[in-house]
Amino acid sequence: MKFLESLKGSQTLIFGAGVTGTAAAEFLRDAGSKVHVIDEKEESAEVIRSLEKISLAEQRFAVVSPGWRPDNPLVRSARGAGIEILSEIDFAWRIKNEVNPGQIWVSLTGTNGKTTAVQMAEAMLKASGIDAKACGNVGDTAIANVAGSKHTHLILELSSFQLSWSEVAKFKASALLNIAEDHIDWHGSFAEYAKAKFKIAKICEIFIANSDDSVVKTGLGNLDRSAITYTLNTPAQGQIGLVEELIVDRAFATGDAEVIFELQDVKPAIPHNVSNAMAASGLALSVGAKPAAISSSLKSFHLDHHRLEVVFEKEGVRWIDDSKATNPHAAKAALYSQESAIWIAGGLAKGADMNELVKSTSKRIKSAILIGTDAPLIEAALRKYAPQIPIETLSLGKTGMELMREVVHLANHQAASGDTVLLAPACASMDQFKDYADRGQCFANAVKEALDV
Ligand code: ADP
Repeated sequence: MKFLESLKGSQTLIFGAGVTGTAAAEFLRDAGSKVHVIDEKEESAEVIRSLEKISLAEQRFAVVSPGWRPDNPLVRSARGAGIEILSEIDFAWRIKNEVNPGQIWVSLTGTNGKTTAVQMAEAMLKASGIDAKACGNVGDTAIANVAGSKHTHLILELSSFQLSWSEVAKFKASALLNIAEDHIDWHGSFAEYAKAKFKIAKICEIFIANSDDSVVKTGLGNLDRSAITYTLNTPAQGQIGLVEELIVDRAFATGDAEVIFELQDVKPAIPHNVSNAMAASGLALSVGAKPAAISSSLKSFHLDHHRLEVVFEKEGVRWIDDSKATNPHAAKAALYSQESAIWIAGGLAKGADMNELVKSTSKRIKSAILIGTDAPLIEAALRKYAPQIPIETLSLGKTGMELMREVVHLANHQAASGDTVLLAPACASMDQFKDYADRGQCFANAVKEALDV
């Protein structure tokens, strides 16, 4: 019996009542399955908290949301009872193969730049007349874009969690942007996290990777397959790279080389953003995008909110919201893009080390305002490696707008013409804000409230 058909009258289990779980549940219910959604943090008419309420033996399979760890006791119980556990991506892949087999999937992963690069790739493909949709970890789920979907191409943003859980989905092309410390608390070690990221090399026909990233470069040496690499240096045969002001393709071009776009097409044309555009262009070229369309789409592309977003400028001081910098690697890219920053940082470090970040960027930091649970980690790194930098560490009591008002008040006192006040926390936000978007919005609102008078 076909997979979709076999769902009719079945019982299925879903781990997680968030965006992924809800989309999978909706699909399964429509397909005629009796769905049990389980979530440790929630209980309602539709959501249960414990497996005791259902008969495990009757579950056809389980779909697990990406945040769930493989060693979660509920997941272990289900696995112990012999239930097959699928990632949402693998689940969507099975359905796609039956109902929309011609749909082409590409994907990418990386510690940072995933959302930006999938959005760029989507714009490049659309400009080439290809009906592509970015989904996965960004916006919509994959399952919502498979059955009955008019999109001929999906560009999936894959997190390390999704990769850890996925076994069967296959991609025409996949890109690996970079690997730096993040989510160590989930994976247990940096080695495990890097291993999850490199899993992407095993599930694609064309593998595209950033050879400027030292961890990626080392990993490429241990792979038993070829890769197309991209670099901010002059490209060798088989690479995409930079020749003066031009981004040149020596991998997909029919001749020796072809110009894909110019530096000035990328906004802002700072190294990590150019690198993201190269990755996106590699993916787009591998499924038929045209260089002219790639460059025209980049000209009108803008970074999404909370990514190096200038929220205010007054008297020579720029106020930048890079709240999406939730790990040290992203904060480093943000600090490198500034000459003199009043740096707002802190929150939940997720097990990441702050020493290298502080060592490599201290010349760019004029002063630091530290917030959140792991502020002491950053404070200790600053005191050790850059003791000349003045620090203000705020107490934990305040949250949301109240906290950001205080932050903005302090920053405004310290800022002089030529400085940037940079919210690039190097940490997650959930200890003091709803999420990174809320943190960035509170910052922008507090800045405008105080200065837009
Ligand atoms: P992701 O989806 O991987 O979180 P985003 O595009 O949302 O990626 O960007 C997350 C953060 O990382 C932002 O602060 C952004 O400025 C920064 N960033 C984007 N691309 C890179 C990169 N290639 N290297 C380092 N930092 C990056």
